[in-house]
Amino acid sequence: MTHRKKISLLIPAYNEQEVLRHLYERLNKLAGQTPDYDFEFLFINDGSRDKTLDIIKGFAESDHRIAYVNLSRNFGKETAMLAGIDHVTGDATVIIDADLQDPPELIPRMIALWEEGYDDVYAKRRSRAGESWFKKVTSETFYKLLQKSTSIPIQRDTGDFRLLSRRCIEALRQFRESQRYTKGMFSWIGYKKKEILYDRDPRAAGVTKWNYFKLINFAIDGITSFTTAPLRISSVLGILISFASFIYILFLVIRTTFYGSDLAGYPSMMAVILFLGGIQLLSLGVIGEYIGRIFNETKNRPLYFIEEYHQSGDKK
Ligand code: UDP
Ligand code: MG
Repeated sequence: MTHRKKISLLIPAYNEQEVLRHLYERLNKLAGQTPDYDFEFLFINDGSRDKTLDIIKGFAESDHRIAYVNLSRNFGKETAMLAGIDHVTGDATVIIDADLQDPPELIPRMIALWEEGYDDVYAKRRSRAGESWFKKVTSETFYKLLQKSTSIPIQRDTGDFRLLSRRCIEALRQFRESQRYTKGMFSWIGYKKKEILYDRDPRAAGVTKWNYFKLINFAIDGITSFTTAPLRISSVLGILISFASFIYILFLVIRTTFYGSDLAGYPSMMAVILFLGGIQLLSLGVIGEYIGRIFNETKNRPLYFIEEYHQSGDKK
């Protein structure tokens, strides 16, 4: 008998008690429809304060395919995903949200493409049902900005829902930075990528863990972890403004020499001072962002702690 390939599903879960049963049903159905493969359902309990862990443990009692990593506290989805990446055992791994916004029904198509030789089969959203226009516009702008500022292709409208081959997982395990922007890492590692389109569903139940404050942080993390373009922009801005000021000073010196001074111009002086002050503060802020990142990375802390790891078992 040939070796059966194992597909790991990596499911970060934070306070997801409302959807877990529904999710488990859908995954069960999926596994039933994909009998040629073994499955591992690896839940990462990211410090949930509700019954999430109990429910997962309940599944594990009767199902050998269930594995779980219980983190010592809430570390955020990015770190939860890393914990998952460190613990998956399958030949391929599918990262999927617990809230069923990523339809598990896409997974067989991903597996088929993986069998054709692709390493990273990512699902691209065709629509964004259940999201406000404001969220759509902000995410659109963010993708555009990020893409303009870096040479690595950033996949637009793509979340973390994707299938990764073993070698992608091995590659991602080597990314030990503490301020993580996993989506950029998927692009960074390269390998053979393939997109499939789907319609993103609204959350099945429960509430989103995101708010705009978190999203802004995420955007800044995304930019500062993948490009130093903002630093470059402030340098260029500095050069341009210094050059313009120099010309203006020349003009003033010449004008005063030949025509004398009229002492007017308080408003324009104020405007220039305020403008330059603003640019200086902004540039300091940009530098500060990067220094902050350096500070965090040099501490070299462990990225997460595990309270308990339960491995998936062999078929009984
Ligand atoms: N999540 C997590 N830790 C967190 C926040 C979220 O593991 O601190 C998980 C969450 O359980 C879900 C996924 O990350 O499986 C996506 O979260 P959510 O649905 O809240 O984000 P959205 O879909 O609104 O972007
Ligand atoms: Mg969601």
